[in-house]
Amino acid sequence: MNKATRKAIIAGNWKMNKTATEAKELISQLIPAVKQADCEVVICTPFTSLCTAVELCRGTNIHVGAENVHFEKSGAYTGEISADMLVDLGVEYVIVGHSERRQYFAETDETVNKRAKAALAAGLKVIVCVGESLAQREQGVTEELVRMQTKIALQDVSAEEMQRVVIAYEPVWAIGTGRTATSEQAQEVCAAIRKVLGELYGQAVAEATTVQYGGSMNAGNADELLEKPDVDGGLIGGASLKADAFGAIVAAASK
Ligand code: PEP
Repeated sequence: MNKATRKAIIAGNWKMNKTATEAKELISQLIPAVKQADCEVVICTPFTSLCTAVELCRGTNIHVGAENVHFEKSGAYTGEISADMLVDLGVEYVIVGHSERRQYFAETDETVNKRAKAALAAGLKVIVCVGESLAQREQGVTEELVRMQTKIALQDVSAEEMQRVVIAYEPVWAIGTGRTATSEQAQEVCAAIRKVLGELYGQAVAEATTVQYGGSMNAGNADELLEKPDVDGGLIGGASLKADAFGAIVAAASK
């Protein structure tokens, strides 16, 4: 992490876990667990827990995010949620392009870009996920792939809007598998992402943008990953569902 030039952010991605009742319980444990944080703390919850999360986190250092957003403003899109709906609830962040959305819900680089633009236009902060599959890593195309995903996701996103964009490097083979990228692998790809940001927006924007690592980050490996200069935080799945584990990762990012 390089806290002198950019914000360190630890964001939890709860995925499809916790009812609103269970969310209340977890958030009541998270508030004391992260209150000493010297980094930004975000929890991205299912839509059904957002109201509860916004209400309980008001006046604390926990920021609330959603896990997805639709790109249209309104209309006949049964089951979808717009960016304005999230803003109206008091939601601040949204994840777009998570690999589970790409894998199970036909998300493409183009729809990731549309979601990012819609979210930014509504005033949200956006966590854009990119990352290669195991086959792509073995084929030696990780860097090209991640460069392409980043470029397409950010098409028509302005340098000014980049102040509200976070990139999460999440190798698909490391998500929910217990298999973490080595700190060298995480550093290499996070640095490659920063290089693309430099090409697109110039050095100042590249240096100011938070690039997270995500993929089985936990209390045991957070220190080593976060000490790499281009790893500015983490997007945390499984370990964000336990207050002590999430608190320990936040503590690692607060050093
Ligand atoms: C994620 O869902 O973004 C993630 C990184 O999950 P996990 O930490 O469980 O691998």
